[in-house]
Amino acid sequence: MSNPPDTAAAPADPIPECPHCQKPMPLCICDSVTPIENRLSLLILQHPQEQDRALGTARLLAGHFADATVRVGLSWPSLSKALGQPVENAARWAVLYLGSARAADLEAEGEIVALNRKGEVAENQRGILGKLEGVVLLDGTWSQAKALWWRNPWMLKCQRVILNPAHPSRYGRLRKEPRKDGLSTIEAAATILAGLERRPDIAETLNASFERLLIRYREVQAEMPELAPKPAPKGRRDFRRRKRA
Ligand SMILES: [Zn+2]
Repeated sequence: MSNPPDTAAAPADPIPECPHCQKPMPLCICDSVTPIENRLSLLILQHPQEQDRALGTARLLAGHFADATVRVGLSWPSLSKALGQPVENAARWAVLYLGSARAADLEAEGEIVALNRKGEVAENQRGILGKLEGVVLLDGTWSQAKALWWRNPWMLKCQRVILNPAHPSRYGRLRKEPRKDGLSTIEAAATILAGLERRPDIAETLNASFERLLIRYREVQAEMPELAPKPAPKGRRDFRRRKRA
């Protein structure tokens, strides 16, 4: 008696992953990443449950810069520990955290808005933004960004900023954004670094990379639907509305 064919249980060959962007190889666009010299340092803190390998942008973003660090975790004792090197003055680092602040409600001007401890528009925007030496981005959904904010009290020593983006996210309908000012991590970096460094070319380069990722995603998705993020089984709570901090 021969064994019946066991096709249902046979796992498909795993799709190989790029060691740099950690995306499935068909979605990797690392070969087209243009290096950018950045004056401000970049630290990307990724929530451990942020695992949208297909559409996530943290590592693609970091791949553009010599001075960029991606850390996966929930909390670190200080900015220096998170960065892995000493930081003399945390106040010269911006943390991009929207929270409940809405640039539109604050009647803020400009695409980058510094907030004070009370969540109000800070006095002397130019003075604050002009002194910044680094930027911390929180990579994950809304609730994941919130968790990172509350679990890392050292962020209160940094300068909180929010964005007032001139254009909505290029994700379009690929992700449901609960707020108009919700951008992907790479788009947020494009806005904040181009603005602070006064270099529109940074935004052009990063946004072009993101466009390439989305084009690749749409092409690949048609042929390999298994790469698309799947809804969780019933009863699981991780089918979330997503947002890039
Ligand atoms: Zn890659």
